[in-house]
Amino acid sequence: MNLIIFGAPGAGKGTQGEFVSKSKSIPAISTGDMFREAVASKSELGKKVSSIMSKGALVPDSIVLKLVEERLRKDDCKSGFLLDGFPRTLPQAKGLEEILARSNKKIDKVISLEVSEESIIKRLSSRRICKNCGRKYNLETLPPKKEGICDNCGGELFQREDDTASTIKHRLSVYFIETQPLIEYYKNQNILQTVNGNKSVPEISAEIAALL
Ligand code: ADP
Ligand code: ZN
Repeated sequence: MNLIIFGAPGAGKGTQGEFVSKSKSIPAISTGDMFREAVASKSELGKKVSSIMSKGALVPDSIVLKLVEERLRKDDCKSGFLLDGFPRTLPQAKGLEEILARSNKKIDKVISLEVSEESIIKRLSSRRICKNCGRKYNLETLPPKKEGICDNCGGELFQREDDTASTIKHRLSVYFIETQPLIEYYKNQNILQTVNGNKSVPEISAEIAALL
């Protein structure tokens, strides 16, 4: 199954994407994670995108499409994949279709997580991540047992550079202008499935499982 998990920043795409990836045995491909890895490894790509990301702006479509095309060519995508954080613009959606068409593939479903703007801002500003194992916490809804320390591995928690107030606002306005129109686009293709993202993590997972 070829899937897209769609939603605003902080809608819970990463968390639910991981769940779908495990239950369907398909790789979860997060362009945001791939770019963060590139930045961390100081690769050529990382140098290009680092300042764009810290501003909360979008990486140019051509760079994103090239990265995704290479990733989808790998063997583990043969029996399906889940895209998280991509496509984010109309040209990216069209580019994805062209990439897939070359190997007679298409997107089967787009799962759209709907969350109110108010709770997005709250979620992003209280999000913390383990430096060591990547587990995500929320200071309000899912705090670690010991402040600043990961329950899972004892690692130190940090806040993503783009999870600060002014950058969050910018990311949201980019989302509303560039990304939200894709909802209509996929609705017109009859592949959009909407899920209420304001519920608890297991409730949302159950709703998604029922759709797949
Ligand atoms: P979130 O969904 O929480 O905003 P991501 O981890 O998906 O975060 O993305 C972080 C940043 O990486 C984005 O703000 C953007 O700069 C860059 N990025 C990720 N995916 C894309 C994409 N498909 N197109 C353009 N830029 C992207
Ligand atoms: Zn950890």
